[in-house]
Amino acid sequence: MDSDMETDRPEAQQTDSNPLDELTRSLHPYDLPIHQEIPDAGVSRDDILAEMREIDRSEDVKWRDGYASGAVYHGDKNHIEFLSEVYRLNSQSNPLHVDVWPSVLKYESEIISMTANMLGAGLNGADDVCGTLSSGGTESIQLAMKTYRDHAEATKGITEPNMVVPSTVHAAFDKAAQYFCIEMRHVPVGDDGRADVAATADAIDDNTVVVVGSSPSFPHGLIDPIEELSELARERGIGFHTDGCLGGFILPWARELGYDVPDFDFRLPGVTSMSADTHKFGYGAKGTSVVLYRNKDLRHYQYFTLTDWPGGIYCSPTFAGSRPGALSATAWAAMVSIGREGYLANVGAILETAAKIKSAIGEIDHVEVIGDPLFVVAIRSDDLDIYEIMDFMTKRGWSLNGLHKPPAVHLCTTLRHTQPGIADRFVDNLTEAVEFVVVNPGKSGGMAPIYGMAASVLDRSVVSNFLEFFMDQWYEI
Ligand SMILES: *Cc1c(COP(=O)(O)O)cnc(C)c1O
Repeated sequence: MDSDMETDRPEAQQTDSNPLDELTRSLHPYDLPIHQEIPDAGVSRDDILAEMREIDRSEDVKWRDGYASGAVYHGDKNHIEFLSEVYRLNSQSNPLHVDVWPSVLKYESEIISMTANMLGAGLNGADDVCGTLSSGGTESIQLAMKTYRDHAEATKGITEPNMVVPSTVHAAFDKAAQYFCIEMRHVPVGDDGRADVAATADAIDDNTVVVVGSSPSFPHGLIDPIEELSELARERGIGFHTDGCLGGFILPWARELGYDVPDFDFRLPGVTSMSADTHKFGYGAKGTSVVLYRNKDLRHYQYFTLTDWPGGIYCSPTFAGSRPGALSATAWAAMVSIGREGYLANVGAILETAAKIKSAIGEIDHVEVIGDPLFVVAIRSDDLDIYEIMDFMTKRGWSLNGLHKPPAVHLCTTLRHTQPGIADRFVDNLTEAVEFVVVNPGKSGGMAPIYGMAASVLDRSVVSNFLEFFMDQWYEI
């Protein structure tokens, strides 16, 4: 969360600064004109662009040179320029007006078809796989959960629905449970970090409308036993969602490259829906994802129609009304321009880089990788505070993901990390971080105390209040 690219060893600074103040400062680092009200005379376009160029120069170092976990999944200059040109050509397009922009329907229906065919559509009788575009993984997941709720109420009369998910499932499922009044049943994962099939079976009851597994999970990058989980659901006539937001555009290519990838998609008869993010490893611009269903009957429960509105007969497939057709165009252009060969080459490079990082971590004392992931490398420690290690990495410019339950930190490997020297730099910095924390436990400053607090406070509403305070800070001028 540091705003400056600090390269000195961390022991020299901020031993007694308040981590909260530091956090708040890091949210508003710019010394630029502030607009509290709409300016009387418009600021010149040149001035605005000049300001934005300056901001871009200071922010792109964080991701361009591979210091960020996840965040920017492609990031090659030519690719970005190509997507920007695609956006420019389509900037006015809005699929709410299909008469004006039928082009968006072409892009979206083809994205859905290409994604479905990559994920087992047409195999083992999965002949009717269909879907919609959404604004991101969270929306895809929420749409699917709403769909199962409404489907179960209409077909089974279930009015007190629950969903059964592994504890490592993405936060978007909890958000869906809250928004759509579905009872959330988290099942603790097994010792191997993957969903516990027997415990999942125990948690399912007559009001369960969907069972979920991740391929792979966000925290530890581990693939749940999707075949067994989806069979539990199928035997009971319940829906099953595979969350492929992160892995949907990695695992099919990994399998083709000969990696050991268990079945996770529509080739399993129990899988009735999936999410896969075109804005992650699909390499589109941020703001698109695909949600897929085994058949159109299920998809109908996602749709919204209104027949007696003075504004006209109205229908929309997802949560939004007006939508940015230009973003769908970038996702289409990314997929079509990269092609199968491009995806295979990219996944090959990502998995080789992750393997190199994993095996190098195996050589460092005091830290270990959780499970045996393909490309999300989560690191924990038995005897050191992993958040102090993360703080040291932050001082070296890294932006890693802090995890808890158990305390850990992860690097989601992207194309950015496949550039020469990046994996070595990560391993060198991690080695240094471990050496530093061994000698200087408790001295990191930074986020470690906040993570420590967040993990240890028993009254979770205290942590929740802190997060509300944190979000309020985002909107302070
Ligand atoms: C990223 C991600 C999501 C959803 O993320 P968005 O930020 O809404 O795109 C869901 N599940 C997993 C496993 C993810 O990695």
